[in-house]
Amino acid sequence: MQNISEIEELIKLISRLPGLGPKSAKRIVLKLINNRDELVKPMANTLAQVYKNVIRCNSCGSLKSNLSGCLNCDNAKNKYSKICVVEDIADQWSIENSNIFQGYFHILGGTISSVGQRKEELLLDSLVERINKQKIEEVILATSATVEGQTTAYYVQDSLKNLDVKITKLAQGLPVGGEIESLDDGTLFSAFKNRSNLISNSD
Ligand SMILES: [Zn+2]
Repeated sequence: MQNISEIEELIKLISRLPGLGPKSAKRIVLKLINNRDELVKPMANTLAQVYKNVIRCNSCGSLKSNLSGCLNCDNAKNKYSKICVVEDIADQWSIENSNIFQGYFHILGGTISSVGQRKEELLLDSLVERINKQKIEEVILATSATVEGQTTAYYVQDSLKNLDVKITKLAQGLPVGGEIESLDDGTLFSAFKNRSNLISNSD
C-alpha cells in the first residue's frame, strides 16, 4: 500500500475500535475508499452529527441527543420502583434485550479503577437524588464479576448506605470474570432471579 497519510491515519484510528486489529482496519478502509459516495460521505456527516449532538446524560449516565430529552430519564411515567446499576450502556442493552428487568437504569460509565480520581463521573450524587426523588425501593448492582466490577459495586453500596433503600447484587451464578454484556439471557435471568440482599435499610 502506498504511504498516503490520510489513509494511514484512518487505519490507525479504526484499528483502535473494539475487536479490530490493523488487518481488519485495512480491509475496512479499502471498502470505504471504494465506496466514497455511498459510505465515506454519509459516514463523515453522521460522525459529525454524533460528535455534535450525542452527549452523556448527567442524571442517569446514558447517552442522549442534545436535541431532545433523555429517553432513559423520561421513562419516569412508568413509575418503576427499581434501579439497576451497570458499568456500561452495552450492559443496559443486554439486560433490556433479555426482558428480565423492568425498571430504571443508572450507567456508571466505568469502574472505580477506570475513572481513577474522577469519581464524580460515576454520577453517584445523581443516583442518590434519583433514589430519593423517584421513591426507589430497590437498587440492583449489576456490575461485572471481575475484581474491578465487584470493587465498584462495593463503592456504590457504600455511597448509598445512609438511604432508606434495599440494595441487592446479582447472584454468584455469574461466571468469575464475567462481563454483563457478554452473558447469555439464561445466565442473566438466573443472576437477576437469585440476586442477593446486601443491605435493607428499610427493614
Ligand atoms: Zn438520563
